[in-house]
Amino acid sequence: MSARAYVVFGAPLIGEEEIAEVVECLRSGWIGTGPRVARFEAAFAAYKGVSRDRVAAVNSCTAALHVAMIAAGLSPGAEVITTPLTFCATVNAILHAGLKPVLADVDEQSQCIDPDAIEAAISPRTEAIVPVHFAGRPCDMDRIMAIAKKHGLAVIEDCAHAIETELAGSKAGTFGDFGCFSFYATKNLTTAEGGMILGRDSERIARARILALHGMSKDAWHRFSDKGYRHYQVVECGFKYNMTDLQAALGLHQLARLEANWERRRALWERYQEAFADLPILRPADPEPESRHAYHLYTLRVAAERCGIDRDGFMQALHERGIGTGVHYLSLAEHPYYQQRLGWRPEDWPVAMRIGRETVSLPLSARLGDGDVERIVAAVHEVLGASTGRG
Ligand SMILES: *Cc1c(COP(=O)(O)O)cnc(C)c1O
Repeated sequence: MSARAYVVFGAPLIGEEEIAEVVECLRSGWIGTGPRVARFEAAFAAYKGVSRDRVAAVNSCTAALHVAMIAAGLSPGAEVITTPLTFCATVNAILHAGLKPVLADVDEQSQCIDPDAIEAAISPRTEAIVPVHFAGRPCDMDRIMAIAKKHGLAVIEDCAHAIETELAGSKAGTFGDFGCFSFYATKNLTTAEGGMILGRDSERIARARILALHGMSKDAWHRFSDKGYRHYQVVECGFKYNMTDLQAALGLHQLARLEANWERRRALWERYQEAFADLPILRPADPEPESRHAYHLYTLRVAAERCGIDRDGFMQALHERGIGTGVHYLSLAEHPYYQQRLGWRPEDWPVAMRIGRETVSLPLSARLGDGDVERIVAAVHEVLGASTGRG
């Protein structure tokens, strides 16, 4: 066994600038929601090409989804269509907002929600669609927005994988009524925990901002500032979802290195694509033309019949070679809570079920060096019993 360090899946790349900004924030005496959050919101809005009043920072994408679901003004108990191939937070947010999640299967190639399946899932009680730009690949937003328009549905994009994603020149999060972003530790931009809501309508974003801080009127954000104490009013029953300046201190510099990190992940992704071309595994589809893939996840499908090893065996073999991997995702219908509460069965969404049982995500952090990547490539070849080495 080599003494080389374990490759931790999803380890973030944190630079000296982030560290210095966090220290400066700590020394400033203002660590809660304040000037750095305001700067981070402005910088994120500029990155997305939207006005400053169309974004609100929160403390997770889960919080962003929850608040967006409420700010969308849907009827209690309304049905919300989403994908089974997502993180549980997508569906939990729908449930927490008092709405009913309805699954529509994914497309085998893109692994994003299939527009035909959305149409088939629409009922008189459907009021919203939550597409997830899976792995950083854009969903078919032309068709999804057309379906939404035809049926009068809200669209809340789960952009947790998709900060850099674009389709035909438009940026992820700007197609629907809301876009919700994650800055969790493993995501393309991290603030350790954090999120952002982007909205088409600045009034709804103003409401989301109030909901994210106890339902306190907007002056509450400034109540202890150097402008003197301000009374606040509670105008609805909100949550405690605000981002802190410590998180924004990280985010400001993570945003500054976003494109450089994207370039690095693209290079890793392309290296994997060519290195695994001859193996009996299924590689991800290449990015569609006219789109920008965010390269958040590099997912392989390991089918026991073709590979002589199943997905879990493959993960264990890589673990033994010092390489951490992830699963994105088991179909949500595999989980007991949803089976019991909603009666879901994996077989009802067969494409997501098959993908979920075969998929494995390799490390794709910008932090990986060339040596790490070649070690991962060699280990994958070794585990699949093929020859190692380049070319
Ligand atoms: C990570 C993730 C979330 C939740 O993000 P948090 O910031 O951890 O709350 C939601 N949806 C998807 C698809 C994710 O990958």
